[in-house]
Amino acid sequence: MEINQLKDLAMSKVNPQKLTENCYVGSVACALVTEQGNVYTGVCIDAPSGMGFCAEHAAIAQMITNNETRITQIVAAGPEGKIYPPCGRCREFIYQINPKNIEAEILVEENKVVSLEEILPYRWN
Ligand SMILES: [Zn+2]
Repeated sequence: MEINQLKDLAMSKVNPQKLTENCYVGSVACALVTEQGNVYTGVCIDAPSGMGFCAEHAAIAQMITNNETRITQIVAAGPEGKIYPPCGRCREFIYQINPKNIEAEILVEENKVVSLEEILPYRWN
């Protein structure tokens, strides 16, 4: 898939909402493509005391719910199409669910795609 199509899909899922005094959701959305060509999406949940999770995490949970683990492309975007590279935890998470994901293509800024290998170079296992 063209990576900008995936970005557009992620952007279409951005829907910032304040659920409660301290809980915000949907300010970042993720879209990923699997080896089988399926697309999954997810949004972040930011809750107090570290209870939330990233958009990548949500999209990956949907992928795993559908019995897949191998990501070929992944994009996270926020309002106005700002691109967010995966945080450190998500980089490790993407790797841990399937080491072959080290080859996944990640949009890290406008028109710049890198592999997970490039942004997670010194792995502990
Ligand atoms: Zn993250």
